[in-house]
Amino acid sequence: MKNRRIIQKERVKFIEIADDIFAAVSPYKGISWANAAFINRGPGLVFDTFFDLFHAEEMMEAFQEVSGGKKPAYVVNSHYNCDHTWGNKVFEDSCFIMHEYANTERIPETNSLGAWSKLVKLGKDAQGVTPGQQFLANELNGFDLAGVEWINPDIEISGDIDIRLGDTVAKILNVAPAHSDSDLLLWLPEDKVLFAGDIVFNGCGAYSEAGIHNWVNVLNRIINELKPEVVVPGHGAICGLEFVIEQRDYLLTVLEQFETHYDDEIDSVELCNKMDISDYLHWIRPERLYASVDALLKAKRGINEPASWEVLPEKFVQVRADMEKKYGDKMTEWDPMSVWSEE
Ligand SMILES: [Zn+2]
Repeated sequence: MKNRRIIQKERVKFIEIADDIFAAVSPYKGISWANAAFINRGPGLVFDTFFDLFHAEEMMEAFQEVSGGKKPAYVVNSHYNCDHTWGNKVFEDSCFIMHEYANTERIPETNSLGAWSKLVKLGKDAQGVTPGQQFLANELNGFDLAGVEWINPDIEISGDIDIRLGDTVAKILNVAPAHSDSDLLLWLPEDKVLFAGDIVFNGCGAYSEAGIHNWVNVLNRIINELKPEVVVPGHGAICGLEFVIEQRDYLLTVLEQFETHYDDEIDSVELCNKMDISDYLHWIRPERLYASVDALLKAKRGINEPASWEVLPEKFVQVRADMEKKYGDKMTEWDPMSVWSEE
């Protein structure tokens, strides 16, 4: 990574991982501290835009610094989640490309914008709130949702597309459902760089609101077919295939443990408590297991009820308390940024 440019802003660090291809990496602090990227080739492309306008504005500044004041022609969102789309307004002159399901899948989340904005203002020391709200207030500490609004996609895709950026072909691969129903990868085959969105969470509990079985297939495709040299995950430090393999193995463990302990009476919190995920306790937020288990349990029982962020935080708090009782000192959360240095 020698001689690559690094642009350090107040909130985000922009690291050039190939010529004019920048990973935009957040310091990892919680669920909404996501990564993004931009490519300053041809007409320019941004991949994801963070959780608020302040982070997104830093990316616009960095893009303009390296492009001589241009604006990117395209914004591609890896999926609908707010930590990847709520900065979109900063780039509203660009052409927005999303998975065809993103614009409907986002509705429950954008409906929470007002409530989340209030929680963010209350801050991590919020008083008189529920444990679930406290969890969210902690996770969202350091953001400011002023001015955020959903921007509709200009182009909705249902398959793969190529976007030409000068001499570079950027491949947008539709891999939904995996983490969500609207997942897209950005793959640069000539540079062997993969921007994975939340298909890869480096060092923190990966969870699925959608298809955990298909997610394993997508990770296997990355490992066996794409074979990237550099992977920029949706969260956590830049990595290589070794972490993609670790995450695939985690999801296989979740599937195997779910089948071992499932019965028709059990609820998702109890089932999490019975499952053994002791090989993955170094990951941040192992309690996010609940989201995957609840999605698997509902699918098994034929219940069609999407995950709700009104409910999830409270369940995470319960599952976390059970894990602390069960695993005790083994719950040693690491710093997922420590595995990678740009030197
Ligand atoms: Zn995310």
